[in-house]
Amino acid sequence: MPTQERRPTPDDIPPQKLDYPASQRDMTPQPDSDLSNYSPANKLTGKVAFITGGDSGIGRAIAIAYALEGAEVAIFYNENDIDADDTKKMVKDIGGKDCLSIKGDVRNYEDCAKAIKQVVDRFGKLNILVNNAAYQMTQKKFEDISLEQFRRTIETNVFGYFYMVKAAISYLEEGDVIINTGSIVGKIGKGMLVDYATSKGAVHTFTKSLAQNFGDRKIRVNSVVPGPVWTPNIPATMPIEKVDNYDTDGIMKRAAQPEELAPVYVFLASSDSSFVTGALYDVTGGQLSA
Ligand code: NAD
Repeated sequence: MPTQERRPTPDDIPPQKLDYPASQRDMTPQPDSDLSNYSPANKLTGKVAFITGGDSGIGRAIAIAYALEGAEVAIFYNENDIDADDTKKMVKDIGGKDCLSIKGDVRNYEDCAKAIKQVVDRFGKLNILVNNAAYQMTQKKFEDISLEQFRRTIETNVFGYFYMVKAAISYLEEGDVIINTGSIVGKIGKGMLVDYATSKGAVHTFTKSLAQNFGDRKIRVNSVVPGPVWTPNIPATMPIEKVDNYDTDGIMKRAAQPEELAPVYVFLASSDSSFVTGALYDVTGGQLSA
């Protein structure tokens, strides 16, 4: 795996278009998810974590990082069995932990409630809820955003996060955390991602409002705000010319690899961040505008 000094640059990313939902296996180059440069320190020993969208991309890297830090890990995904199996195997091989993998749809409250119960039945509790699953589809022209697409985006990215919190909250106690994955486009907007950017803006205010609501219970709520990250969503939802040389918008002039996001999710899940709540934690490579 590349060292921190040699991350793939836009020049390493050839044009490619994959059908949605894409498998991480079909991407060129393969995203770095294995945390090979990471030094764990038992920061989450004794904790139980549940990560939506944990089959691939950022969610996979979080699952591996949490296992390396000693947590019991469960992932939730909707379609891609191969990616989910790959994550399960990597969590075991790299993190040394069995990973509970649950298939379902975050747009369906029953699926969310069933999954949370399954985690608690298996591990006896839940300490860390990571809302990370999301849907996006780019449309250059506003008229091409169908009612169905708008509904799917908002139902996945907003209702889905609410449903998971609703299902999980009765199990969360003082010291437990909720971490939502936002997006830089939820702060600055994006012309070809109108519905998605809108949903991510909602995730950010959801995060801040929940942090206030759960403050007395000492349950901390934060958002990680990624910039461009090399994950299956990119070649499956972006125009091919945008995938080619992805991405040069930020100060660092490259996309992140999923494993570069994971340490921030560890920080926000551990007691190292005991004074952090209601925060939108940017990991954008310096992307300041759309
Ligand atoms: P990814 O390509 O790994 O795919 C997202 C995952 O979400 C899917 O694999 C699937 O498991 C899950 N999902 C989608 N719809 C679902 C549904 N209805 N029910 C259950 N699960 C569902 O994703 P990624 O790029 O790693 O994205 C992870 C998070 O990071 C998302 O919240 C995304 O919005 C955010 N993000 C990504 C980028 C980026 O450039 N990749 C940038 C900013 C924010």
